[in-house]
Amino acid sequence: MSLATFPSHNPVTSEVIAEYRNTSPQEVQDAVLRAKTACIAWQGLGYKGRKKVLLAWCGQLTKRIDEISQIVRAETGKPISDATLEVTLAIGHLAWAAKNAEKVLSKQNRPSGLLMFNMSATVSRKPMGVVGVIGPWNYPIFTPMGSIAYSLAAGNTVVFKPSEYTPGVGHWLGESFSQVAPFADIFAVVTGLPETGVALTESSVDKVSFTGSTRTAKKVAASCATRMVPVVLECGGKDPVIVAGDADVDLAAEYALWSSMSNAGQTCIGAERVYVVNEVADKFEAKIKELALQIHPGADGNYGPATMPSQLKVIQGHIDDAASKGGRFLIGGTDSVKAPFVEPVIILGVPENSTAVTEETFGPTLVINRVADISEAIRLSNATSYGLAASVFSKRNGRKIAEQLQCGMVSVNSVIAFAAIASVPFGGVKDSGYGRIHGPEGLLEFTYAHTVVKTLFRIPIDFTTFGRTKFADKFIKGAIKTLHSKGLG
Ligand code: NAD
Repeated sequence: MSLATFPSHNPVTSEVIAEYRNTSPQEVQDAVLRAKTACIAWQGLGYKGRKKVLLAWCGQLTKRIDEISQIVRAETGKPISDATLEVTLAIGHLAWAAKNAEKVLSKQNRPSGLLMFNMSATVSRKPMGVVGVIGPWNYPIFTPMGSIAYSLAAGNTVVFKPSEYTPGVGHWLGESFSQVAPFADIFAVVTGLPETGVALTESSVDKVSFTGSTRTAKKVAASCATRMVPVVLECGGKDPVIVAGDADVDLAAEYALWSSMSNAGQTCIGAERVYVVNEVADKFEAKIKELALQIHPGADGNYGPATMPSQLKVIQGHIDDAASKGGRFLIGGTDSVKAPFVEPVIILGVPENSTAVTEETFGPTLVINRVADISEAIRLSNATSYGLAASVFSKRNGRKIAEQLQCGMVSVNSVIAFAAIASVPFGGVKDSGYGRIHGPEGLLEFTYAHTVVKTLFRIPIDFTTFGRTKFADKFIKGAIKTLHSKGLG
């Protein structure tokens, strides 16, 4: 028997913050069907009408930024400044999607080619219908907004299932949208346990955009495949940082530390591995140690607790595995996990087959391994099942190194910067998933191409008829020979 409600907890104190509805499969399907009806009127508003609504929502989020940031803080445990930063990034994406949907998705005329010169050809982008968005807890507003904003701007309606660890954030998002919605069911929120997510993948949705672990992503893809429902999968990562001999080493240390430890290391695009070339390794290690000694977790600290208590076992397991395989602690040790917090852990010289190198740790830990040269750094960076993002620190060769990394996004002489640039796509390859949110690609993702070709006038070389003439056959063959026999295009 499933529960009617479930609690959300403060991860620091374990206190219950509030109870939320555990939405049943039937209620999920009902919400999707209502959203299907609403999507006709939502599409009827056109780009300009939807832009007005979405920018009004931006206004709501901005005016009430302290309120939502407090809920993010309460449910995740992250510092209020991090929670606020997250909300500002989400607002930026919402505004970008609202303002750019028309430009990106408007109908295009395409050349019809020499043989089809009597036809016009156009391609427009049609919304999918209802997009089911399933979100994680680590960035409970920024992450799902990458799917919600871009789906809505493209003309879809959305049913959103927030993480069971952050239902209050999802509930608040739904309530704030209702303040600006011209009618009901454009954006519905279904709070619930994982079964509610399962129900969304089994409902009549037209597309699912999932953000979460690779393990769950495979289940989501399998469930959607039974009905040929397309999916976007935004999963985990094991992001590397490459530090070249010509890097600004102090900057690399400062950024790598923040990328790996902020949000208690619970960042899909956060640094988990560093490959530093021998010649600057001593300097890099000394600098990152100096900086790491200045940060700590806690209520008044630089980062909060592990939001999901079960993650502590994974973090401990990776630290223990690294230690047992010969890793040396630059900072912290096997006793750094102090539930619900984890103190900063930096481990040197960890064998590449340790789980601390091969699997997503999702804690404030960092592995630093020395390499002989940049080729080795690139090879090891790519030698993982994940391919989400990466950072490169090099004054002269940043772009060249970036081009050789098998992942969706690279920051050169910075970390995570692409997430704050709304015009660029976000997403990974390999076990990090497929499909894209953000930017033009994020708008295109929630539409399908719709082609219309039209006869402008009839010509004697018509070939879509049984009345095709010998002259038409000869003409087509001759034209093709003229165009392509030299193999030049
Ligand atoms: P998770 O996979 O446990 O859960 C994600 C969501 O899926 C939750 O809402 C959950 O209720 C739901 N769910 C669980 N089982 C389901 C099922 N069988 N069918 C449908 N829905 C189901 O992930 P999490 O612990 O919430 O999030 C952390 C993970 O998310 C990390 O791996 C992190 O790297 C990843 N992440 C990726 C990105 C990205 O953009 N690539 C962003 C943030 C987080």
